[in-house]
Amino acid sequence: PLLESPFEVGLRSLQSLGEAGTEDGIQSEQAGGKRGFSAYFSKLTRNRREAEKPGGAAGATSSPPPAENISADDIFIAVKTTKKFHKSRLELLLDTWISRNVQQTYIFTDGEDEELKKKMGSHVINTNCSAAHSRQALSCKMAVEYDKFIESGNKWFCHVDDDNYVNMKTLVQLLSQYPHTQDMYIGKPSLDRPIEATERLGDNKMRPVNFWFATGGAGFCVSRGLALKMSPWASGGHFMNTAEKIRLPDDCTIGYIIESVLGVPLTRSNLFHSHLENLQQVSRSEVHKQITLSYGMFENKRNIINMKGAFSVEEDPSRFKSVHCLLNPDTPWCPPQVAY
Ligand code: UDP
Ligand code: MN
Repeated sequence: PLLESPFEVGLRSLQSLGEAGTEDGIQSEQAGGKRGFSAYFSKLTRNRREAEKPGGAAGATSSPPPAENISADDIFIAVKTTKKFHKSRLELLLDTWISRNVQQTYIFTDGEDEELKKKMGSHVINTNCSAAHSRQALSCKMAVEYDKFIESGNKWFCHVDDDNYVNMKTLVQLLSQYPHTQDMYIGKPSLDRPIEATERLGDNKMRPVNFWFATGGAGFCVSRGLALKMSPWASGGHFMNTAEKIRLPDDCTIGYIIESVLGVPLTRSNLFHSHLENLQQVSRSEVHKQITLSYGMFENKRNIINMKGAFSVEEDPSRFKSVHCLLNPDTPWCPPQVAY
């Protein structure tokens, strides 16, 4: 998201750390006072039951089998970046989680970089979109991400920013719970209520629309079944036109197409994390269970997960190297295993 129009500034101010950081701030729409992870898991169970209705998993087992046995190769991960962040942000990702998932990962950027091409080959896509942090430029990149995913034939589309760490193992576990042919949109909202937008209908007519959307900065996933239905509003040049209709950033436009146009609800997951929330609240003992992590600055202070790890905060300010060594202790540059 951006900080250019007064609306977007308002949006950001809603996402103040205290509010967005608490689990109940994000999940307050869930009835019955159930909170946090228990609410999340009961929701997953509910969704899974619904997912299983047609075929129906026979017999009641204590842990139901996955809806579909997918592997990392079934997932298309789009990383959005920009040339000025190739060194300062992308390199860290290439050295950590991407290094183990090159086959699944595609980098969407806006400038040529020979060194990056040497590492990622055809998985670097120069979108030729403008390098500005404007709504149009970001929507232009999302449009290319969408088209490349459709072309890839993969089962799941996942989008992340270049300040996200992705734990592929937990991502595969989550997505395995749903058939990719079903309509699935999974991520974490950054607001505690639906966004209120105005749809431009042409003829100077306007219509208010409310919908939930998953924050792009936390990462989100869309099943192929749903992505195909999005095509009239998302493929080719359509995504840019749709984004202009509501004049909101790319991640909001995805939510608009899915919830408002297609009527498919967002499935919430608390395992996705952006730096709009207070990352200190990710439990130290549950870092390995998360799907995405992030890092950032808030009011001149670091907003990072709280973990002891292989590297100090000075050596590893994002904590991603420490996370990577926790998840992959066999990595050559990780110090010999010690109990943290
Ligand atoms: N980004 C971009 N073009 C720009 C600035 C940022 O494509 O001119 C990308 C950036 O690489 C990142 C995402 O947009 O993947 C969000 O940028 P950032 O983290 O700087 O801002 P945030 O919205 O998270 O505050
Ligand atoms: Mn960011």
